[in-house]
Amino acid sequence: MHNLRLKALELLMTRQPKKAEVPHSKISEYFGELTFGLSAMREYLTSEANKSLVESVHRGQRIKRLEADQVAAALKSWAISRGVTHYTHWFHPLTGATAEKHDAFIVPSGDGKAIENLTGGELVQQEPDASSFPSGGIRNTFEARGYTAWDPTSPAFIIDRTLCVPTIFISYTGEALDFKLPLLKTLSEIDSAATAICKYFSDDISNVHSTLGWEQEYFVVDEALYQARPDMMLTGRTVFGHASAKDQQLSDHYFGVIPSRVMEFMKEFEYESHRLGIPVKTRHNEVAPNQFELAPVYEEVNLAVDHNQLVMHIMQKVARRHNLRVLLHEKPFAKVNGSGKHNNWSLATDTGINLLSPGKDVNSNFRFLTFMAVVLKAVYKHADLLRGAIASAGNDLRLGAHEAPPAIISVFIGSHLSQVFDELEKYGTIKDDFKSQIDLKLSKIPEIKQDNTDRNRTSPFAFTGNKFEFRAVGSAQNCSSAMIALNLIVADQLKEFKKTVDELISNGTDKDKAIFQIVQGYISDSKLIRFEGNNYSDEWIKEAESRGLSNLSNSVDALRSYVSEKTIRLFEQNGILTERELYARYYIKLENYIKVLQIEARVMGDLATNHIIPTAIRYQNTLIENVKGLKDVLDNKTFVNISRNQITGIKAISDHINQIRTFVDLMTEERKKANNIEDLETQSEAYLHKVLPYFDQIRYHVDKLEVLVDDEIWPLPKYRELLFSR
Ligand code: ADP
Ligand code: MG
Repeated sequence: MHNLRLKALELLMTRQPKKAEVPHSKISEYFGELTFGLSAMREYLTSEANKSLVESVHRGQRIKRLEADQVAAALKSWAISRGVTHYTHWFHPLTGATAEKHDAFIVPSGDGKAIENLTGGELVQQEPDASSFPSGGIRNTFEARGYTAWDPTSPAFIIDRTLCVPTIFISYTGEALDFKLPLLKTLSEIDSAATAICKYFSDDISNVHSTLGWEQEYFVVDEALYQARPDMMLTGRTVFGHASAKDQQLSDHYFGVIPSRVMEFMKEFEYESHRLGIPVKTRHNEVAPNQFELAPVYEEVNLAVDHNQLVMHIMQKVARRHNLRVLLHEKPFAKVNGSGKHNNWSLATDTGINLLSPGKDVNSNFRFLTFMAVVLKAVYKHADLLRGAIASAGNDLRLGAHEAPPAIISVFIGSHLSQVFDELEKYGTIKDDFKSQIDLKLSKIPEIKQDNTDRNRTSPFAFTGNKFEFRAVGSAQNCSSAMIALNLIVADQLKEFKKTVDELISNGTDKDKAIFQIVQGYISDSKLIRFEGNNYSDEWIKEAESRGLSNLSNSVDALRSYVSEKTIRLFEQNGILTERELYARYYIKLENYIKVLQIEARVMGDLATNHIIPTAIRYQNTLIENVKGLKDVLDNKTFVNISRNQITGIKAISDHINQIRTFVDLMTEERKKANNIEDLETQSEAYLHKVLPYFDQIRYHVDKLEVLVDDEIWPLPKYRELLFSR
């Protein structure tokens, strides 16, 4: 008998933890050894080239061609001395993954041999055939090529004997085809806008950058079980599966002892991450069984984003060596916790100040208050964009269910700060000592920050003492999307803030009073976005509605914010993306949504028709044979008594089979209709409103069959096996 599930379960009995392949040395001895970071640069570059490279890194500027040749030569020697044979530009196309195209270092030397080479030109620019990457209609076939250009702010690194050079990806007509280019632009906007505000408070700050610490959640399952679930292999999640008798009710997994097979896997991928200079720091079990979390020390946003993309890749690769699979999907299992990727975000100055951390003196508390008010106002104004930035079919399944924040964007700032804000709003006419009063109110916050009782875990966007935590981001997503939106709305608001304050000053208002007046206005304007209560409750949904906050529960509605007039103006005025580029992104995201649902619908149909129904029929036949046999051996009266339940069971199975067939057929019909729709918006709506509703209906009957049919012939690994096998 060919039952992959049973084979997998047998294999599980013999699995042994595979020891992590890591050296017995201190982390500091190998940290960053595979990146062309500062120490490698010092060793391989002339001090002049080094200096100008470091400068362009700090200013986020491209380096000159002549320097590029020098850097290329240095990179080449550095890489070759580490056994590298190939190089690639490494970029973030709009698929959400990363892409690379490897070229060997060699050039023929004319005598039938070859020499290693890498020129400055090859370093700074490459032309991958871009026609298969999503472009949302930006690129016609006649202009199919795009090019990648080096981003010196993220160091080159080595993976699998290949030198990877982080790059941006642009079409020949100059449009961004990736996440990195707009991200870098928003970082530069944040820098100039925030620095200008800092100048109101002190002269010594000349640079501001935003910081990101992501917390990556994921599930781990055994390789053999994974192979026995075609839905996991093709969609990253289970489309069927009855709840396990036990899942996360007892909360006994959270922060528990990490299972040893997983522990060995973690040690090994952390080692590989550390060699690549990724400062991963924290590991622990998450709430759901077989769910885990990993978090690094925060870094500058661009670097942190690259590192997260790399980590997701490394985890998956290392897991295979341990006969495990990592599930990055936002909702691999229905009815248990999904996986998010909290984006902890803040603003830091070149002088080492965290602008979202309350300060030690009057002036820095005033500055803190200013930045807080600006962030609140920005989020209030552009909540829809933040929601759109984290929209995906996978995240739709997670948001608003099982300890995940709802689709309503609101901000939690804690009871203490709320009280301060409320008081400041009603402060009345500005008195001369208002700054010391602000100080009095804010100076207590650093102590309160440590207090975990003042932490609302249910909020999608929470202030956690010295940073904001954007929790609605999905585990599989590229953080760029969320970071572009957040950096941009804050930069834009900072600029507007400066403009209005300067107007007041030029009309003769005292600088501090002008700042305070605008801050007060922002606090009062953004009041409706603040929510301190339980974001999971039904009351909040009602209240949010009465406040006029949007609750966009699906991606199709949420993504529209990408092309609203307000968003287009925001992106264009700040020079981040044009209307055409925004539409391209919107269409790419819609298309992705449609394709995900299309694949899931097909997988459901296949599994139901080819795995579930045949199994149910087989079991049903066994029951029928049994009833027939009973009839042969029993007298009629006993038989009638005994067989009643049996026959009801047979009928129930028939009924489920019948319903599954009907719904699969109806779903297929709707899918065909939807596939014929040309317009992406209409097509995505058809998938959302006509195809998707069948998912739950089909699943309901399949999951019922799972508990009726003989365990021994059920083809798909069950939830208890996927969630509890170690
Ligand atoms: P938790 O949210 O689980 O309580 P922590 O608050 O310790 O965990 O930190 C979570 C993440 O926030 C870590 O990746 C950490 O590096 C990051 N973080 C801390 N400070 C900042 C900051 N100023 N900017 C961005 N991220 C930060
Ligand atoms: Mg957190």
